[in-house]
Amino acid sequence: MKIIMLGAPGAGKGTQAKKIADKYQIPHISTGDIFRANIKEGTELGKKAKSYMDQGLLVPDELTLELIMDRFQNPDCANGYVLDGFPRTIPQAEALTAALEKNGETIDYAINVEVPDENIVTRMSGRRACLACGATYHVVYAPTKTEGVCDRCGEKLVLRDDDKPETVKKRLDVYHSQTQPLIDYYTKQGKLVEVDGTQNVDAVFDAIVKILGA
Ligand code: ADP
Ligand code: ADP
Ligand code: ZN
Repeated sequence: MKIIMLGAPGAGKGTQAKKIADKYQIPHISTGDIFRANIKEGTELGKKAKSYMDQGLLVPDELTLELIMDRFQNPDCANGYVLDGFPRTIPQAEALTAALEKNGETIDYAINVEVPDENIVTRMSGRRACLACGATYHVVYAPTKTEGVCDRCGEKLVLRDDDKPETVKKRLDVYHSQTQPLIDYYTKQGKLVEVDGTQNVDAVFDAIVKILGA
C-alpha cells in the first residue's frame, strides 16, 4: 500500500502516519524527520536544509527529490510506505508520479487531513517533538507519561524552532500557495480522500481505517 498524507503543517499527518505504519506494517517516511536527523548530525544536506526550514520556507525540490528517491531504494519500501510531508509541491508530485510509472505503479490514496488555519497555531505551540525517534506529542491533546520525555524512546522532547507562532504563520502561507494545489492534482488522479482532522486522534484514525480497510 502506498499512501500520501496531505494537510497543513500541524494537521496531524505525522501522528496518523505513525499509526498507519504500525497497523499496515509499512515504513513511515517523513521528509521533515529526515531533514531534522541530518541537521542533528551536521551533514551537508542538513546545513543546506536548515536555512530554509528556520525561515518556514520549503527546502528546494532538487534537494528534497534527491533525498526521497534515495530513500525509496531501501528494501523496506517493497510493500509500500506512508509518505508524510512529501510531496509538498506540484513538481515533487510530478516527479513521484513519473518515478512510480516507470515501474507500472501508482499511489493508492492521498489522504487529506483537514484542519482549519485557526486551529493550527494552538496545535503547533503545544507540539513537542522527539528528534531521536520522530514521535510528536501535544502538551494538552497528546501528553507524555512523564513531562518532557519521549514515551517511545526516553529522549528529551523539544519545541521545534519552526513551531514559533511567526514561523507557523509563514509555513501556513507556504502551505496554501505551494502545497494546497496538490489536493486538485490528486483529485484529478482519482486518489484523493478526505478526513476531518479536528476530531480526536483516535476518531481521525478510525476514519482512515474505514477508507484503507481493516
Ligand atoms: P510539519 O510536520 O509541520 O508538516 P515537517 O516536519 O513535515 O513539518 O517539515 C518541516 C520543514 O521541513 C518544512 O517546513 C520544510 O522546510 C521542510 N520540508 C519537509 N518536507 C519537505 C518537502 N517535501 N519539500 C520541501 N521542504 C520540506
Ligand atoms: P503534522 O505532521 O501534520 O505537522 P503532527 O502529527 O505533528 O502534525 O501534529 C501536530 C500537533 O497536534 C502535535 O502536537 C500533535 O500531538 C497534535 N495533534 C495531532 N493530531 C491531533 C488531533 N486529532 N487532535 C488534537 N491534537 C492533535
Ligand atoms: Zn522518541
